[in-house]
This record gives sequence, structure tokens and C-alpha cells, in this order.
Amino acid sequence: MKSIYMDHSATTPVDPDVFNAMIPYYTDIYGNASSVHSQGQKAARAVENAREQVASLIGASPGEIIFTSGGTEADNQAIITFMSSNQKQGRHIITSAIEHHAVLHTCEYLVKQGFELTVLPVNQEGLVEPDTLRAALRPDTALVSIMHANNEVGTIQAIPELAAITHEVGAVFHTDAVQTVGKIPVNVKDMGVDLLSASSHKLYGPKGSGCLFAKKGVRIGSYLYGGGHERNMRAGTVNVPGVVGFGKAAELAQQRLPQNQAALKDLSQRLTQGILDAIPNTRLTGHPVHRLPGSVSVCFDYVEGESILLMLDSYGIMASSGSACTSGSLDPSHVLLALGLAHETAHGSLRLTMGKDNTQEDVDYVLQVLPNIIKNLRLMSPLGQ
Ligand code: PLP
Repeated sequence: MKSIYMDHSATTPVDPDVFNAMIPYYTDIYGNASSVHSQGQKAARAVENAREQVASLIGASPGEIIFTSGGTEADNQAIITFMSSNQKQGRHIITSAIEHHAVLHTCEYLVKQGFELTVLPVNQEGLVEPDTLRAALRPDTALVSIMHANNEVGTIQAIPELAAITHEVGAVFHTDAVQTVGKIPVNVKDMGVDLLSASSHKLYGPKGSGCLFAKKGVRIGSYLYGGGHERNMRAGTVNVPGVVGFGKAAELAQQRLPQNQAALKDLSQRLTQGILDAIPNTRLTGHPVHRLPGSVSVCFDYVEGESILLMLDSYGIMASSGSACTSGSLDPSHVLLALGLAHETAHGSLRLTMGKDNTQEDVDYVLQVLPNIIKNLRLMSPLGQ
């Protein structure tokens, strides 16, 4: 049976070049990067090399990169430590209704600690309207956190504009760029962001590795207490193979980005159009143009997303419905509800996210299989007949 992986927004396979780059740091150069002996120093140099590779991918200085255990930790560190360290500036945070739970739940935790939160609505295409942000800003707003691209519907926000509006009142702007780093151009200077989270496993690097970009001069603190690793910004023995893998993945992403981006845009346009043409009562979710290359998200009336996933899996196609973190729960995705979709519609969501190894043949196969799956599921549904 064919095996077609279309769940790259959940995670990506580790690129063989990345894997090879990591191996020596498990076998020969296993020293602790904080040790003074030659093994330790070799490991430390590899970490600094990776810092340069990651910084280069996002247009930052190496000194502005803090390695973390991934996107979730970077989001937690950015939001919690910034708010705790800048209380004189204010105790008000703004975020959007479609953020990943790594941001939303972190903000909710801060509310329990007495901070104030405004959650901005988005329009039907998943965009935060600049005027909505402008109206929510207050003199005591210290931080605005709005994701670069959404993991479920792929909408890419107008970050430069949102960051500029935030700066007008002297607040700091954080973006969760976990879904965009390595997939579309991300440049912290062009975007005007102060804090940015990234994760290695979304760009063909290993899981459990990521970073927080903190612009020079932005006051944040360490989220973990312990040793003085990462210039006192992240306690804990550095995950040298994970960091080296992230660095290599960043280097490869930088080289391959234009080519991958164009190919994925083409594939996702064909897949989207093919689905909409072949299956009635279907809608595209997210922005039709400003969306992640390779990301197709749709809702089918009268069917359950979970059933579609099981049927697709029986044909060797791996996809998802809502985000990996929320699947398993029967609640419809908070993102789709925030876009204004009815509960019944949101239940019929499908996300197909392609990556660098997907082909036109993969798209054709999905288009060959999916219409019949939906047709059969609708025949079984009391509403779909
Ligand atoms: N933010 C977004 C937008 C994501 O898509 C994810 C993962 O799916 C995360 C944060 C969490 O990143 P990590 O898995 O590295 O903790």
C-alpha cells in the first residue's frame, strides 16, 4: 500500500543530512558543552555554530538566540518571563483567539496570577484586523503575542503592520513563528518583532529542540532555574545533538526555501482546487492567498473529521483534523470556531499539510481517493443523504 505523509504541520521527518550531522554528537563528541576539556569545547563550538545557522535563517544576531526544548518552551519563556520582568510597564497582555495552546494557555496562567488579558477576534479568513489590535491597546499593555501563521488553517498574519501598531504605544511584540520558520522567509528585522519562537521539528530537524529569539535590549528572564547555561537565560545541560540538528536544518532550509516554497504553493493550489471541484458542500478554511505553502484545510458538511482520518489512513494517507495537540478531544477546534464556523461544520475539518517530499502523484492519489471517502461517509450520515 502507498504511504503518503501529509501532516507536516504536526511534525516533519528528520532530513538525512540533519541526522548525519547529529550522529557524532552522540558517538564521539558527547562531552558536556559546559566542560572545559577538549570534548566539551568541541561540543560548545558546535552549539555556537548552530546558533549562527539559526540566527542567519531569521536575520538575527547569534547573541539573540536562546536554545530551548522547542516551541512550547519558547512561548512560555517569552510570555511569562517578559510579563514578570516588566511589570512597571504594565500588566496587560494581548493575544489572538487562534493562537496555539502554548500561547493561549500560558496567557491564561498569567491571568490566574493577576495579569490582564485581551483575546482578539479574527475575521473569517483568520486574520487579526489591524484596527482591532489598535482598539485593544492600552497604556498598560506590555506585550502583544500574535502568531505568524496558524497551524490549523495556515493563515499568515500581517506581522510587520501589527508589530508597528504595537510599538506605537511602547509595548513589545512576540510572534509564535513555529509554523513559518524554514517554510517562508522570516526576518526578525523586516517583521519588526521583539520576541519570536521557533521549533526544529517543523523544519526537518529533531523534536525537543527550538529557540527563542529575544531582540537585544528586550528584558526577559530564564524560565528554568539552575545552572548558568545559555548566558543565564536557560538553565539545563544543552541538548547538543538536538541543537546541532536544528542548526543543520536551519542551514538547509535557508538554501532550499525558495524552491520548496514555490513547489509547495503549486501542489497545495492543485490539491485545494481538486477537492473543491470534486466534492460538493466543501469550503476552504483560512485565507485563500495569505496562507502557508503546502497547507490545505477544508471543512466538509455532514461528516466527522475523525472518520475521514481513519478512512484516509486505511488508504495510506496520513493527515489530521484540527491540530495534533487537540485531536483526541471531541471539542471542535477553537481555531475553526474563532473563524465563525458552526460546530457541525468545524467537526468536518481536514488538514492536509504537504512537505518537500510530496509530489504531484501524491496529490493525484488523494484526489482519487478522497471524493469517494466523503461520498461514502455522507451516505452513512443521517444528515448527508
Ligand atoms: N506553536 C505552534 C503554532 C505550533 O504549531 C506548535 C506545534 O505544533 C507549537 C507552538 C509547539 O511547538 P513544540 O512542538 O516544539 O513544542
